[in-house]
Amino acid sequence: MHKVSELYRGKAKTVFVTDEPNKLILEFRDDTSAFDGEKIEQLSRKGEVNNKFNHFIMQKLEAAGIQTQLEYIINDNESVVKKLSMIPVECVVRNYAAGSLCKRLGVQEGLALSPPTFELFLKNDALHDPMINESHCTAFGWATASQISQMKALTFQVNQVLSSLFDQGKILLVDFKLEFGTDDQGNIILGDEFTPDGCRLWDKETNKKLDKDRFRQGLGSVVESYIEVAARVGLDLR
Ligand code: C5P
Repeated sequence: MHKVSELYRGKAKTVFVTDEPNKLILEFRDDTSAFDGEKIEQLSRKGEVNNKFNHFIMQKLEAAGIQTQLEYIINDNESVVKKLSMIPVECVVRNYAAGSLCKRLGVQEGLALSPPTFELFLKNDALHDPMINESHCTAFGWATASQISQMKALTFQVNQVLSSLFDQGKILLVDFKLEFGTDDQGNIILGDEFTPDGCRLWDKETNKKLDKDRFRQGLGSVVESYIEVAARVGLDLR
């Protein structure tokens, strides 16, 4: 399989069209961004670590019966994925309060949320990914009611599978963001990535942050923490 042209360059990944119909190549770069691209740095090995971590997690989700965009890994930084029509909505589940939820509602970081919350955000950098609800999705045609209910059910299913996986590594899955797309038959498929760039992971005993908040908050040892998370759930990237 060969790359034919660049389809889209995001803040941390590039998507390439290939010579095979319905297959794309996803390249994980070392670029790390926060605050809508205001803070950008290159972190050595981050692309490789995220590519391999994403592959590992997507395999776990497939094994649990969740369809994902990922096909196979081709080298340190690249994977082959199915071509999907992406839904421009981010699905966020929170098991503990952190980040924008604390800012928005004034609740204490670390508060356990039972049942977990489910939130939707519009994928739009210029508008800083505003929070939206189901009626916005249907009124503006971003997603149908049926697609939203499927995305919600799948996001909670991912939460169950991954909360238990991280728990085995003595890590709390605090929150995470997922993106979905549709294949040419209209099936909802989990797309994009699952890496420590898009979730919050805390050490269960010390609450030490092991995710991209280390970068956002200038705590250092970003990639080292991602490698530690991987090791604790059974993937050796050292
Ligand atoms: O910022 P906020 O607290 O709303 O983020 C919730 C979760 O979604 C965090 O794990 C964050 O890393 C993830 N997220 C993301 N991409 C965004 C917004 C949030 O991966 N554009």
